[in-house]
Amino acid sequence: MKILIIEDEPSIAEVVAAYARREGYETSWAPDGETAMGLWEKDGADLVVLDLMLPKLNGEEVCRRIRAQSQVPIIMLTARGSESDVVAGLDEGANDYVSKPFSPRVLMARIRAQLRPVREDHPKVKGGGAPLLCAGGRIEVDAERVELRKDGTPIPVTKSEFLIFSTLASRPIRTWSREEIIRSALGDDYEGFDRTVDTYIKNLRKKLAEQGHENGWIRTVYGFGYRLDDTEAQT
Ligand code: CA
Repeated sequence: MKILIIEDEPSIAEVVAAYARREGYETSWAPDGETAMGLWEKDGADLVVLDLMLPKLNGEEVCRRIRAQSQVPIIMLTARGSESDVVAGLDEGANDYVSKPFSPRVLMARIRAQLRPVREDHPKVKGGGAPLLCAGGRIEVDAERVELRKDGTPIPVTKSEFLIFSTLASRPIRTWSREEIIRSALGDDYEGFDRTVDTYIKNLRKKLAEQGHENGWIRTVYGFGYRLDDTEAQT
């Protein structure tokens, strides 16, 4: 497994690389966005750690370009720490983010979470077989291919977004708290915080809304969490 580290601050890149190598990953390093795209196109990677503030090509642009070609997991490093940067990063297709200054151990836990295969004991995966139909039969949840489809057309969701949607779809009437969603979809050792779920849901809604439902078939249950809206289109 190879991790591409895109970070203009050599001391940070070195720390990330040292931790990654200690866990058995190969690493490559790009100090700016252009070098990063060159390395990505030449060698690829199994996961990308991407700083947001970069010379030549900024992190958002690098994320957009990689995402146009691949569903590789991308973890953003955000120095500015503001919520809008985080949202912008996730909107560009990043799978997760870590705010600087960060603990290398937390970053490694996030990396492991992204690289962990879809869990065999996940409610949707169990038994494999036919895709689950939800949202009144409009959305297909295909655990085998890790794919959401509307009328047979794949919806471009990330793996984390898929896992969250399939968790909601596994018991459509049930309301899930943010904590339950994290635990069931992303795993016990995911070290994100509750509100991360809101950002994933926001992205899911945006992608699903393009398929014809304003809220993306996800209903907010105020003060508690989310559940799938399995009824006909509504406002
Ligand atoms: Ca930087």
